[in-house]
Amino acid sequence: MRLSRALDAARRDTPSKQPTAHIPRGFDQMPQPSWQVWRLLRRFGVLCTVLLIVAGCNATVLAGHPRSMRYDPERVGGLEVSAGPNGPRPTSPPPSGTAENTDGGAIDRMALLAINDIEMFWKEQFPKTFGAPLRPVDELLSFDPADPFSPRICGASPEEFASNAAYCVDSNSIVWDRSAETGMLSTGSRYFGPMAPVGILAHEFGHAIQHQADLPEIDDTLVSEQQADCLAGVYLRWVAEGQSPRFMLSTGDSPYGLNYLLAGMLALRDPLSTPGNPVLIPNPHGSGLDRVGALQVGFEQGADSCAQTDAAEIRKRRGDLPKALFNPLSQNSDMTVDEDTLNSLTEVLQQIFHPSQPPSLTTESATCNGGSTRSAVPRQPRRSGVSCSSSAGAPAS
Ligand SMILES: [Zn+2]
Repeated sequence: MRLSRALDAARRDTPSKQPTAHIPRGFDQMPQPSWQVWRLLRRFGVLCTVLLIVAGCNATVLAGHPRSMRYDPERVGGLEVSAGPNGPRPTSPPPSGTAENTDGGAIDRMALLAINDIEMFWKEQFPKTFGAPLRPVDELLSFDPADPFSPRICGASPEEFASNAAYCVDSNSIVWDRSAETGMLSTGSRYFGPMAPVGILAHEFGHAIQHQADLPEIDDTLVSEQQADCLAGVYLRWVAEGQSPRFMLSTGDSPYGLNYLLAGMLALRDPLSTPGNPVLIPNPHGSGLDRVGALQVGFEQGADSCAQTDAAEIRKRRGDLPKALFNPLSQNSDMTVDEDTLNSLTEVLQQIFHPSQPPSLTTESATCNGGSTRSAVPRQPRRSGVSCSSSAGAPAS
């Protein structure tokens, strides 16, 4: 199942928000029938069964494909599933403005183009949501941590922000490591496609939005990061709707579309902390499910809902979902992918689908059409202070 749609379905199975003025776009409202209604439906079902028997079981077969009321595979967050290219439009205007300390390279040009687009979106959206004009980010700063002449970043040494991107509160600036080998923008692009750096910078711009709008509980790191993910989702929906003049984002199976962005967010989750293996997370950004869930709130429900993100909303959204996708101590967690799991999965799928020529399963390395062997699992980028929002001039991890 496509990842975004699988998460879409998983989220709809979790306790949802009570109805508010912010009706989720694209959600089918699913009123829960009362017990009395169920009893009536059961009686009605029995009556229908009796009538069918009396009528000689002349059941009507309807044409078409069955579709779940809880999960529409043709839509993602209310949008039609779309296939197509992802990344900069061929017709995009060139980047405008300047980044301080730039080397004029491809990473910096892409970052400028992304900021141009994100700022264009929020100039229109911010007044609608928060009732005031947007104050643009004052400074964009590119740096290379290997450069001995690099300026200080948010009042700290470049090494402290190596491999990262960040929003600096005091200077109202967005900074990024432009290193082609280790910078977050280039690493994200390498593994998750050309929209990954756009998503990262949309998250950092989200921090600028939350501070300007004075959203609740932004001193709580998890809340702050969830709000930024949510606000990034609001912008990315605009791109997915085809409204961006600079970027394209598909919601289908096309390479480097929304699914890849979500995979990138999963890769940049907090490390798993369990009773048997506690991990100190001083500035949590959230589990993979937290991060994808927050982006989904923004994508589906808009900026108003991001403004309501606080610790209580996060607890409610988590419900009984596992805090990590891979928690060996939890029965709710995904299973480890090993030979036993794959054999069981293959057996079950063959029982369900009865293929005339069942595929065989091998866990050995293989070459693809004479090409070289490649790992299907991308190496997880270094995660040190990911997408942080620093305060008081100091990096906040
Ligand atoms: Zn952040």
